[in-house]
Amino acid sequence: MVANGVLVLNRNWTAIHVCSLERAITLLVQGLAQVVDENFRTYDFGSWRELSDYVEYEGNRFIHATSFRLMIPEVILLTHYHRVPPRAVKFNRRNIYVRDDFRCQYCGCKPPREELTIDHVVPRSRGGRSEWENVVLACQSCNARKGSRLLAESPMHLARAPKKPNWINIVRHSLQAQNRPAWQRFVDAAYWNVDLED
Ligand SMILES: [Zn+2]
Repeated sequence: MVANGVLVLNRNWTAIHVCSLERAITLLVQGLAQVVDENFRTYDFGSWRELSDYVEYEGNRFIHATSFRLMIPEVILLTHYHRVPPRAVKFNRRNIYVRDDFRCQYCGCKPPREELTIDHVVPRSRGGRSEWENVVLACQSCNARKGSRLLAESPMHLARAPKKPNWINIVRHSLQAQNRPAWQRFVDAAYWNVDLED
């Protein structure tokens, strides 16, 4: 997730994306998006710029251009409806940890992070690939216990079948680490509306 990202809402107010600040400003300037404030009021670029002139500094973050300053938007609303292709979540260590909730997927324990390992359900030595459907977090003892066996050859069970996570789950988790109250409602709403695949 982008550290200084801006949450993008589709025309129907559902969270669809996190974009960079630069991208958000471009969309605003082009009239393709409006800023949403914490009271759900919307502003086009001109009125947001005007408002930015009247707002006291205290804690607000601004971008400074030569002739004006602009409050940094946190949430923007697209003015046209966008068909959204399913967002790909990066296959990386961090996102695997988030997907698996920092728990061993075999015994369910939640040891310190550094004691978790990434286990290949079908071991690499047996042709298993590094992909969402074949990796899970495992504590050290479960990982050792399973060794290079297939699941069917061991007495162990997975808490749930691993699959590619939905991006909103990843964003939602990141929110807990950042202080982005303006995002919370939209992301929560999107989270509860996510289509569950089987
Ligand atoms: Zn375990």
